[in-house]
Amino acid sequence: MGAHPLLPAPMRPPLVQISLLFSLLISVLIIGGCGQTPSPRTIYPTPAALVQANSALEAGNIERARSIFASWESPEKAASVRGMARIGLGRCALASGQIEAAIRHLDMARKLLGPGTQLARAHLYLGEALLRSGSTNSGLNQLEKAYPSLLDADNRRRAAYLITRTLDQLGEAVPALYRNAAGNASFPEYTSIWLRDVTPGTTVVETAPTGVPRVTVRNAPKRIQVHKRSSWRASPPRTRRVVPMTRPSRITVHHTADQPAIASLGIRNPEQYLRRIQDYCTGSLNWGDIGYHYLISADGRIWEGRSIQYQGAHAGNNSLNRGNIGIALIGNFDREHPTSSQVESLGSLLGALAAVHEIRPSRIYGHKDLRDTGCPGKHLQSILARLVDRLNRSGQTRRTR
Ligand SMILES: [Zn+2]
Repeated sequence: MGAHPLLPAPMRPPLVQISLLFSLLISVLIIGGCGQTPSPRTIYPTPAALVQANSALEAGNIERARSIFASWESPEKAASVRGMARIGLGRCALASGQIEAAIRHLDMARKLLGPGTQLARAHLYLGEALLRSGSTNSGLNQLEKAYPSLLDADNRRRAAYLITRTLDQLGEAVPALYRNAAGNASFPEYTSIWLRDVTPGTTVVETAPTGVPRVTVRNAPKRIQVHKRSSWRASPPRTRRVVPMTRPSRITVHHTADQPAIASLGIRNPEQYLRRIQDYCTGSLNWGDIGYHYLISADGRIWEGRSIQYQGAHAGNNSLNRGNIGIALIGNFDREHPTSSQVESLGSLLGALAAVHEIRPSRIYGHKDLRDTGCPGKHLQSILARLVDRLNRSGQTRRTR
């Protein structure tokens, strides 16, 4: 997974103004009642099959949704219907992590649809896909185009949230329009967009393409990389046995303290180790998925465990797991010390998660802070205290600057 350079922000045209002007112009045309032709803001009727496909998608039945959308994306259908089907195909691709395919479908949808709320949906999902691919500025442009024409309140909040969080992470000013519309919404399913890209705190000088002046981005982002579930060939979660995550408000750190046989696998081959743990959780324990949201192997690699859109199973019971992000370092830290790469990765991950979810350092716990257990081991517990302390101090520096 390559890290993508962020383009310098001033190159982005003020599309908000342009699209606002454009929609003003359209409303003037409609109010003026120019001729008998239907207004350009057509509300397309959505075929019942597509409504069904959307419900299947919401329920996590991606393959069923995909096959319905695909059957409606054929040349004999009207352009508007094909456009809606392409939006569906794009969302299915997004849901299964196929970002390039999502961009292709959604770009096609955009070309098939006339102005209106369906086109705005195409912009919204295309914006998300572009952010996920690392094309930050193009993604922001799509979201700004989407925002004024989205009718659905949840979708408007999503667009505003994506814009606000992304600009925050870039250290750029956020227009009040978006910040207000985002309110205190929380969409944990977007977390990985910013985790792969950014943690605040370092100064980076970006080299722009030739002919464009170099731009210095202050407080911009040190990149951290999270290895997605697909990298260890995770099985899909059993969606009936997981519950959606509520707003993340705390983080709990664990050690895995495995049996000797599996402990050595964790060092030798983390991918295979993760599959074994997932099999154990979903098989013997009958859970919906692996319990932790992130795991860190001895070589310092950070692995995506349970998707953060689902509540974890790590702290001990439902009320302890609520809004609680679970991170496990692979090893037994009553007996040994975590490696320096593990400690470094834990520090970066905690900093990034705390920034993205606005979690105060005082809400970062070792498992034993929450219940009677030796987890995460005496050596890791004392290191964690130092990391939290450091986060506290860097937060104070930022505020007083
Ligand atoms: Zn624990």
